[in-house]
Amino acid sequence: MKIGVLALQGAFIEHIHHLKKLQCETVEIRKVEDLNDLDGIIIPGGESTTMGKLLKETGIIEPLRDKIIHGLPVWGTCAGMIILAKENENHPIEGLKVMDIKVRRNAYGSQIDSFEEMVQIKEISPNPLHLVFIRAPYICAHDSKVEILYKRDGKAVVAKQENILATSFHPELTDSLEFHRYFLAMCCGKTN
Ligand code: GLN
Repeated sequence: MKIGVLALQGAFIEHIHHLKKLQCETVEIRKVEDLNDLDGIIIPGGESTTMGKLLKETGIIEPLRDKIIHGLPVWGTCAGMIILAKENENHPIEGLKVMDIKVRRNAYGSQIDSFEEMVQIKEISPNPLHLVFIRAPYICAHDSKVEILYKRDGKAVVAKQENILATSFHPELTDSLEFHRYFLAMCCGKTN
């Protein structure tokens, strides 16, 4: 399986390390040609305004949007979730706008309000999962096409819409491979 990780900005290397532990071939995506022959793509955490500008400057934004609309599995973590969202409540950005969610950026406060916790998300794994929130967004509204896989304090932080997965937090910054395994199963068409 060949999985791309958008490598314009942010925490991409940690995703690559997790994917390698799961025996995936990985590609760092920096230009349009890197998008060829992928089985899936991850959009990492980072800073969504900058990432959006770089997506536009490199010309990746349109071909990538087209591939996602035509079924390429994609997973956005944190800033990646913001890039996937059709709407963003507080600070609009240039994004892919492929997922029918509205997000609130920095919804839990600034960097010093970052936090971690252990939770159970049955859809992803029977084991407790370590979640790391860093200036994280949450989903404040969504279309009925979107399946909410986990809510924290009533706010959706894990969601799926067909080939699109979004998490508010950073599984790549933990030792757990469970979310990456779940995404690879999506890439093989084993989840629906
Ligand atoms: N707060 C950042 C943004 O709005 C996202 C932070 C992250 O990816 N850890 O882009």
